[in-house]
Amino acid sequence: MANFLELNTGAKMPILGLGTWKSPPGQVGEAVKVAIDTGYRHIDCAHVYQNEHEVGTALQEKLKAGVVQRQELFIVSKLWCTYHDKNLVKEACKKTLSDLKLDYLDLYLIHWPTGFKAGKDFFPLDGTGSVIPGDTDYVDTWTAMEELVDEGLVKAIGVSNFNHLQIERILNKPGLKYKPAVNQIECHPYLTQEKLTQYCQSKGIVVTAYSPLGSPDRPWAKPEDPSLLEDPRIKAIATKHNKTVAQVLIRFPMQRNMVVIPKSVTPKRIIENFQVFDFDLSSSEVNTLLSYNRNWRVCALVSCANHKDYPFNIEF
Ligand code: NAP
Repeated sequence: MANFLELNTGAKMPILGLGTWKSPPGQVGEAVKVAIDTGYRHIDCAHVYQNEHEVGTALQEKLKAGVVQRQELFIVSKLWCTYHDKNLVKEACKKTLSDLKLDYLDLYLIHWPTGFKAGKDFFPLDGTGSVIPGDTDYVDTWTAMEELVDEGLVKAIGVSNFNHLQIERILNKPGLKYKPAVNQIECHPYLTQEKLTQYCQSKGIVVTAYSPLGSPDRPWAKPEDPSLLEDPRIKAIATKHNKTVAQVLIRFPMQRNMVVIPKSVTPKRIIENFQVFDFDLSSSEVNTLLSYNRNWRVCALVSCANHKDYPFNIEF
């Protein structure tokens, strides 16, 4: 298996990247450095993770030391929901570039289809605890994203957490200049996303699987929630291959022609999660893992369930 997927821009995107959501300050930089030393060339970042500055310092250190060249790295970041206004997109991208200490991104995603009221709060709330929507339309935000490509600030643009009708609206935009290269979505054996994946791949849009391990460190985890890493059925498959459950969960999307971005700040696990190029799940094992789907979401963005652009009110 090649270690990259080709985007509709012609660029090669490494199929395995390091996630950085919830990676704390004081640890995320070391995680990025260990990852690069291990062979990771793709880092998944976002302004809303509030750690891009430290990620950037770590990248800079590895670039300066000559461990890796900029063109070998594939750096992804995301436009947060409070910057959907056309006039805020460039400023938001430049802030991310300055934090990451880079002069371009390989891929910039609209983080969610839902625009929020602009301002300092990442989640501006009304009195009832609902998010205050903005008056933007993600199709207009897309036009501003296209300008970032033309200005050389980003090599490719894409979306995240978009359903197929929302992608369709972008593809049908009059005067569309660049199609989305990627849709980054939650995907694992309890949320297998077969229909959305089929839709995206049929349009030449690469799917990136986020929360591939089920995001055990998500802040809203409850003890009664299902746990992929502790699922004895997946453990049995892992044992058969002499691999860990995490390695099976990372290999699974790779064999579905997806990119995958497990997060860890633990050096031993960062290394473990990269040792997934030396075994194959059989097609019957892939089908077995697909059969564990239960439409269980880590990231349901429940505070936005009433937003006009909430993505999860339709089947896919
Ligand atoms: P994840 O990668 O499924 O799980 C991360 C958790 O698993 C951490 O608690 C980590 O612990 C643990 N872990 C990592 N490797 C392990 C191993 N080999 N054995 C046991 N435990 C292991 O969850 P995620 O962070 O939600 O998703 C991954 C990335 O996807 C994010 O970091 C982010 O970059 C991206 N993402 C994007 C969106 C979006 O809206 N676009 C949403 C969610 C996530 P330690 O770190 O303590 O080792």
